[in-house]
Amino acid sequence: MTEVVSISLENEMDLVLAHKRSMKVAEKLGLTVATQTTFATAVSEVARAVIEYTDNGTLTIGIEQNKTRYALKANVTFNSEIKLIAGDEGFYYAQKLVPEFELSGENGAYVIDMKLGLPRSLKLDAVKISILKKYFHEEQPLNPYEEIKRRNSHLHKLTAEQEEELKRTKLIDEKKTEFISIASHELKTPLTVLKAFTQMAKSTKEPVSDRLKGLLNKIDLQSNKLNSLVQQLLDISRAENGNLQYNMQQVKLNSFIVDQLAVMQSILPNHIISSSLGDDADVMIDILRMEQVFSNLLGNAAKYSRTNTSVEVSSAFNSDGHITISIKDQGIGMSADTMTSIFDKFYRAEDVSKTHAGLGMGLYITSKIVTDHGGKIWVDSKENEGSTFHFSLPNCEVA
Ligand code: ADP
Repeated sequence: MTEVVSISLENEMDLVLAHKRSMKVAEKLGLTVATQTTFATAVSEVARAVIEYTDNGTLTIGIEQNKTRYALKANVTFNSEIKLIAGDEGFYYAQKLVPEFELSGENGAYVIDMKLGLPRSLKLDAVKISILKKYFHEEQPLNPYEEIKRRNSHLHKLTAEQEEELKRTKLIDEKKTEFISIASHELKTPLTVLKAFTQMAKSTKEPVSDRLKGLLNKIDLQSNKLNSLVQQLLDISRAENGNLQYNMQQVKLNSFIVDQLAVMQSILPNHIISSSLGDDADVMIDILRMEQVFSNLLGNAAKYSRTNTSVEVSSAFNSDGHITISIKDQGIGMSADTMTSIFDKFYRAEDVSKTHAGLGMGLYITSKIVTDHGGKIWVDSKENEGSTFHFSLPNCEVA
């Protein structure tokens, strides 16, 4: 059947639409007023009965072709828990009006087909049917109710499409995480072997030239860098699967920070790292993971600022019993737009992509570690002036 009009049958207002649309289709086909009325009455009767049983019916009016003959057809589908037969009141009258009436149903899903053969004198063909279809497709709503109905159905369609898109995106993201997990595990094994052999070569008792020693040190340094990238990839897939493991211990915060800053100052000799710490506190942390937080934030502070600029680390108690640790740099800063996305996985500001190496993993993992410790992370920044990253941790004594 070539569908010309479709109406969902939900309430009495739809009866008016069903009647008017059936009349109009019959009129546009060139049928007599008497036939138009008969067809529209049959359709309305069935629609009325269906609306009495349920609000999930759909009426479709169209043209069916059987070899060289055409028929005007109304098809009504609906679900009903009540058992129905063609002789039921409501269907009974409609059967008297149209030459062909059929009701079929299985497991509560019903279909009613009504058909009216169209005279050859109408000279119907594919072109005329397509013009008819186009006419109803473009026709204005009959009343404000139909307009709202159309808008609703458009909105439903959009929502369904968006849900579908969301599902697709989720699936792609899951595939990506799975790939990261496999890739990082595959990379880890040869890397561990490479590092072990480099260590063996470095500690050999055999005489080694200075040049070879220098090369071995370079291999060691680069494989350490590679190792930390692979580690980050592994962390991302663990974070995604909720598998980041923590070994929590109670530590004195100030001495922990002081140790971190000493380590980071030796790794970042071209920046001046200073600290101004508030009162000491006991915090429950996973030491290795918290080292990662300091290493990422201080590493970024140095990476995104000129050499010989300062990086200041401070701490202070909050009124809510948390301690906030702040890392302030004098670097390139970032736009308000960038600030909203920096904690997203793989996010990198557009302007830094060309100038600074990186994969956009550090802050995503850092924020995950901080929130898993019961804290928060946020940033204040001004372009060309610098950024201050803050993160908070719960104070054990208060908790
Ligand atoms: P990466 O540094 O590898 O790009 P991160 O996740 O650590 O990944 O950082 C994400 C993005 O946040 C960076 O690409 C950069 O745009 C921005 N960013 C992070 N730290 C700073 C900082 N201290 N100053 C300016 N921009 C920063």
